[in-house]
Amino acid sequence: MIATSLLQIIYLIASVTFIVGLKFLGNPATARKGNLIAAFGMTLAIFGTIFLYQKDGENLHNLPWIFAGLAVGTILGFFAAKKVQMTAMPEMVSLFNGMGGACAMLISIIEFQHLSSGSLVGQEATVLIILVGMIIGSVSFSGSMVAWGKLSGNVKDKSFGKQQFINIGLLVVILALAYFTIMGTNADPSMLFYAVLTLSLLYGILFVLPIGGADMPVVISLLNSFTGVAAACGGFIYDNKVMLVGGILVGSAGTLLTIVMCKAMNRSLLNVLIGNFGGGAKGEAAGSSTFEGSIKEVNASDAAILMRYAKKVIIVPGYGLAVAQAQHVVHDLELLLESEGVEVKYAIHPVAGRMPGHMNVLLAESNVSYDKLVEMEEINPEFNSTDVVLVVGANDVVNPAAKTDPNSPIYGMPILDVENAANVIVNKRSMKAGYAGIENELFYKPKTSMLFGDAKKALTELVNEIKALG
Ligand code: NDP
Repeated sequence: MIATSLLQIIYLIASVTFIVGLKFLGNPATARKGNLIAAFGMTLAIFGTIFLYQKDGENLHNLPWIFAGLAVGTILGFFAAKKVQMTAMPEMVSLFNGMGGACAMLISIIEFQHLSSGSLVGQEATVLIILVGMIIGSVSFSGSMVAWGKLSGNVKDKSFGKQQFINIGLLVVILALAYFTIMGTNADPSMLFYAVLTLSLLYGILFVLPIGGADMPVVISLLNSFTGVAAACGGFIYDNKVMLVGGILVGSAGTLLTIVMCKAMNRSLLNVLIGNFGGGAKGEAAGSSTFEGSIKEVNASDAAILMRYAKKVIIVPGYGLAVAQAQHVVHDLELLLESEGVEVKYAIHPVAGRMPGHMNVLLAESNVSYDKLVEMEEINPEFNSTDVVLVVGANDVVNPAAKTDPNSPIYGMPILDVENAANVIVNKRSMKAGYAGIENELFYKPKTSMLFGDAKKALTELVNEIKALG
């Protein structure tokens, strides 16, 4: 009795740490602390469950297996997180999210086996929750695995004719089979259950596979919210409050993020749900330009003069900044320019990089002051009064095709209006396309100059040239 009451108090404390942690995660300055607070709460909940949980007066069995599993997970997670490159972080987030979905799926499978060893009559509500957790968990698992493959470049976008109808059809079949599993038919309920499982895994794959262009951020946050909802179902199944709270927090935070990402990509959530976006005809392949104008190159010394004598410079970071690990040198450049009296800001596009908040995390690593990071809506009106925009390893988020080419896969996505500035310097290594695989007319505009080279190397040269100007 005392053990059970103590466990409930531990769950309450853990739930509070999740909420406080989430609140702290809202600001880069406190994010690390927030993560630690929530991790502490989770550790407390895990050990509380292991030692204090009781059913029919008995504690948990199989402790050696539980500790072996904990040890394997902790070691793998610790080294994976220590070793991961900043550029591979989005893949890892996807992989870990998939593991959460897989856990929810496995819980449902095991609990269904327990339940179906007896009669399912009168157990409809429990079967419903088990099925909801299993369907959402398995879609999240297989979908996250495909997203993982896509982000690491190992899986290419693949769609076939009428895919959206096939997806909708598949969903209808899954729901129908789930209905019959709950309500009972002549068919063996286990057979129906495993059919639902298989089709849900297939749906996860088909749902994410065709998503191309630049729409992956929406899908990643959606899968994240799926995992949360699936975990919350586990909380219902076990009547476990902390699992319920944790799942609901992840589910609702993920849903909010999905809405923010949809807004950033200018897509409706319905489009996301039926797996029918990013499907517009792709623009011309990079390298075969159909644009007027020509590429103008600039060297580090001319770029240095332009920036050193500017009044206002806006830096636009993108995925290439993360690839080059140029976050420290870009901060040096900012400090140097400011010491020369130049006003410097960073323009942060909501989907720049490969995961939500990627640029904020990256720049926080080099101690860039948070008030210098300005969101897209706020910074866009400022480009008119900017002397130089320095685009570092960004491409899709500054591509005017989003506004001008209805056939472009990024058409409708709000972009950073860098072309309104007096001068645009774009640093990248070549004329290759970005994530969406499309050419960028910005590079051919009269006000644009290309500073070719790896971002770290090019920016280091730029810093040295500005210093040499005295
Ligand atoms: P992009 O992927 O559009 O472009 C990045 C550019 O960086 C490339 O064109 C590349 O050109 C350049 N680059 C690569 N390595 C280096 C380097 N070492 N030095 C200098 N430049 C380099 O990035 P953006 O940030 O503009 O846009 C993000 C894209 O990713 C969007 O399409 C978004 O939808 C998508 N996405 C975003 C996610 C998110 O949550 N934020 C998740 C999944 C996808 P080159 O090879 O010539 O150097």
